[in-house]
Amino acid sequence: MQINRAIFLDRDGTINEEVGYIEQLDRLVIIPAAFEAIRLINLSGFKAIVVTNQAGIAKGLFDETFVKQTNDHLQESLKQKGAAIDAFYFCPHHPTEGAPPYRQVCDCRKPAPGLFHQAARDMAIDLTGSFMIGDRYRDMEAAHRAGVKGVLVKTGYGADVLENIGPDQETPEGKPDHIAENILKAVHWILENRT
Ligand SMILES: [Mg+2]
Ligand SMILES: [Zn+2]
Repeated sequence: MQINRAIFLDRDGTINEEVGYIEQLDRLVIIPAAFEAIRLINLSGFKAIVVTNQAGIAKGLFDETFVKQTNDHLQESLKQKGAAIDAFYFCPHHPTEGAPPYRQVCDCRKPAPGLFHQAARDMAIDLTGSFMIGDRYRDMEAAHRAGVKGVLVKTGYGADVLENIGPDQETPEGKPDHIAENILKAVHWILENRT
């Protein structure tokens, strides 16, 4: 039985500032609104689950161990302010760069929905009652392919995405269900609009 609901969170540009590839821990700077946003998710009964593309692994910029260390560091920083992520999922692949096995067309690199399906299996998540918050259309596309509703934030690439692609040029699957200033506003909207 899929008994849990989740708010899936993109990592870079949504929880922490978008600074390009994070290959050193000190490049991880949490967006201030994220602390309260994740605390609210924790109180709401939704699981807080990070789903992140980390193609820097395929490109040889860092390894899986480093991504896990970065996630641990993020978790520690959140916990110091009373917030916690329930689970982290990442895609280490890239379709054309690096060497196998990381160079592959996988089912988990967003906009593919594989990370959502992994989480749903592991944590008994009801995807149709769940939401995704991210800063790129591919976050929205991945969510929709998994049956999850999507909120696009204007942090990270979000503002550029909206300005340069525009709401008319997005793919139908990438169209956000809502657009919010940041992760905190996105969580507020979700908690007001959950069914
Ligand atoms: Mg992002
Ligand atoms: Zn993958």
